[in-house]
Amino acid sequence: MGFLRASFYFFCLLYTIFSWGRTWTTKAGSKSDGELFEVLGDRIGLLIKGREYHFSLSRFTQPDQEYVRNWKKVTRCPICSKSLGTRTIDAGGVKYHTSCFRCMVCRSGFRGGDQFRRDAWKGMVHVKHFQSTGLCGTCSRIFVKRDANPKQFFADGRMSCITCLKDGVFEGAILKEVENRVWKTLTRIGISKPVGNLSIRLVDRGLLNQEALKINARGNLRGLTLTKYKIVRGGRNPGTTFDHRIYILYGLPYIECESVLAHEFAHVWLNERFIESSPPVVEGFCNLVSSAVLEKEKSKLASVLLENLQNNTSLAYGVGYRKMKANLAQKNWNQVLLEMKRKSKPPQLK
Ligand SMILES: [Zn+2]
Ligand SMILES: [Zn+2]
Ligand SMILES: [Zn+2]
Ligand SMILES: [Zn+2]
Repeated sequence: MGFLRASFYFFCLLYTIFSWGRTWTTKAGSKSDGELFEVLGDRIGLLIKGREYHFSLSRFTQPDQEYVRNWKKVTRCPICSKSLGTRTIDAGGVKYHTSCFRCMVCRSGFRGGDQFRRDAWKGMVHVKHFQSTGLCGTCSRIFVKRDANPKQFFADGRMSCITCLKDGVFEGAILKEVENRVWKTLTRIGISKPVGNLSIRLVDRGLLNQEALKINARGNLRGLTLTKYKIVRGGRNPGTTFDHRIYILYGLPYIECESVLAHEFAHVWLNERFIESSPPVVEGFCNLVSSAVLEKEKSKLASVLLENLQNNTSLAYGVGYRKMKANLAQKNWNQVLLEMKRKSKPPQLK
């Protein structure tokens, strides 16, 4: 018994010495253990159980905010987040530990004149070694091909980093969970569930693109909505019926799957109301709905996907989204939905 107790204390001691994490307490009183790895304006990055999250600093108690302020005062290596010592290297005005500033493929340190690429996840690689790496189709994380799991290379040619793969939606049961989570946010902002039939299928890129051609859509698609309607006048069952089919790429990490589903559910909502407008209005609106779902999520991936929306250069998906977002900033969801409803043009039967 004595021995067991001794080893227990030993374990605790080790834990205290080697754990970088600390307990974070929100103003609402909930606690979690996490390691601070970045501060971006009013947001902080916490590593919790191996996953990277972004939170707004204001949700934490004063002592936690004070800790962040002190943490920020120390100049840190952008790769390992630890304070810089004497062995540092300066690259483009940013200081790194010499030992951290290395190529993930050849493992050797970058030297003056070396061209390298960096991702948003602390990965760095020589440009000349870039062909030995894969790029995650979701989060743009660079990974070394020779170290990758074969499952990271999808049969339809897509690639995924191991983190996104771990959260990948490959089966109906998980898809259902994602769907329920999306509806929670959508019903809160006033987007109701469809009255018509709705089926959702996980498909590969080939099938998605083939279906997309039916409505002349192309590009780097992740999801697609096809709606058929039938109007019956007179008879025993007059009215309009809808049949919606949503196609979504298999294997997207659930955060991205949520954002794509939210976008497609917004199309379903528009279609049932015969709301038609230009692509920037329609796709901008659907991306705005998608952003509402992403804003509810705290993982770092959600903020990366939100940034992608913010930086998207496409007229429909990017410019359209930013216009919608500016509109929402001055109004509320109820008013934005009303504006959309005014664009309704139900088909006129002759
Ligand atoms: Zn470092
Ligand atoms: Zn290299
Ligand atoms: Zn990824
Ligand atoms: Zn769309």
